[in-house]
Amino acid sequence: MRLALADVYSARARIAGVAARTPLAPSPHLSTVSGQDFLLKLEIAQPIGAFKLRGAANAIAALPDDCTGVTCCSTGNHGRGIAYAARARGLRAVVCMSELVPQAKVDGIRALGAEVCITGKSQDDAQAESTRLCKAEGLAEISPFDDASVIAGQGTIGLELLEDRPDLDMILVPLSGGGLAGGIALAAKAIKPDIRVIGISMERGAAMHASLAAGHPVEIEEVASLADSLGGGVGLTNKLSFALCRDLLDDVILVTEAEIYRAMQTLYYEDRLVAEGASAVGIAALQAGKLPPLNGPVAAIITGRNVDMNVFTQIVTGKDVTLGDVTIKGQAYGA
Ligand SMILES: *Cc1c(COP(=O)(O)O)cnc(C)c1O
Repeated sequence: MRLALADVYSARARIAGVAARTPLAPSPHLSTVSGQDFLLKLEIAQPIGAFKLRGAANAIAALPDDCTGVTCCSTGNHGRGIAYAARARGLRAVVCMSELVPQAKVDGIRALGAEVCITGKSQDDAQAESTRLCKAEGLAEISPFDDASVIAGQGTIGLELLEDRPDLDMILVPLSGGGLAGGIALAAKAIKPDIRVIGISMERGAAMHASLAAGHPVEIEEVASLADSLGGGVGLTNKLSFALCRDLLDDVILVTEAEIYRAMQTLYYEDRLVAEGASAVGIAALQAGKLPPLNGPVAAIITGRNVDMNVFTQIVTGKDVTLGDVTIKGQAYGA
C-alpha cells in the first residue's frame, strides 16, 4: 500500500462532521522567543481533546458494513478516538492499554462507552492482547500509527496548515509511532516540497529515534515520562510509518523531562493552554535552543490536552513531579 496526497483528501471528506477543523493560533510570546511567526495548531480543540480522532474516524469509516466491533492498543488518545468514532457508528470497541497509561486517560475512554482491558507493562503487551482479541472475537484491529487510514486521517492536519499559512517554513510534530509525523509530512511535502517537518520525542524511550538511527525498527525499554502519549515502540514489523518518517522527516530532536515541564508551564502561562506533555515537546525544543535555524513561520502541533490534572497542577505551581522511577524537580515559572 502506497499512500498519496489523494488519500489524505479522501480522509478529509470522510471525517468531516466527526473531527473538527482546528484553529491555527498565533503565539505572541513564542514568536518573540523564536524571532518568527510562531503558530499553534490547536488539536486540543478536537471533541476528544486530541488529534487522534482524525485517524480513528477515518479508519472506522473505512470498515466494511458487516463489521461488528473494533479493538486497538493505545497510550490513551487513540483509544479515546476509536471509542468516540465507534460509538458514533454503533460499533463495539475494546481498548487495550498497559499499566503505564494514566488513570485520567483510562477513565476518559470508559466514559465514551468502550470496554477497557489493562494488560502488562508496555505498549507491546497491549498490542499483543489487541491482536489476540482480534482473532478470538472477530474484531477489526486498528493500529494507532501503522495503518494507512489512520495515517491519512492524521495527514489532514497538513492540509489545514498550508491552507491557513501557505508561507509556513517548518512544522514541529510530536513523534511516537510516527503516524502523525508521517501523515503530515506526506501531505505537506506533496503540496510544498521544501517545507521542513521536524519530529520531536522525549529522551526517555524515543523508539522512532532509535529505530531511525539503527536503520530498522528496534525495541526500546518503555519508561514513565511527562510525554506519556509518546511512549511505546514502533512495532518490529512496522509496514508504513517507519519508512514515511525515514524518508520524509528532516530531523528528529529529543528533549528532557525538565524541558517538557518548562514547556508545559510556558503554554499555560503565556498562551493560557492546558496541554499534555506530549503536546509541549516542540515548544521544549525551541526553548532549549535545539531547533535548526528558522527561516520563516513555524507551526507546532499542540496534539492533546488529556493530562492528569493532579500532575498538571503540580507543574503549573512549580512542584516536584514523580512518575514511576523518575522525579522531575519543580521550578516556578519564570524563576
Ligand atoms: C499519539 C500521540 C502523539 C504521537 O503520534 P504518533 O502517530 O504515535 O507519532 C503525539 N501527541 C499525542 C497527544 C498523542 O496522543
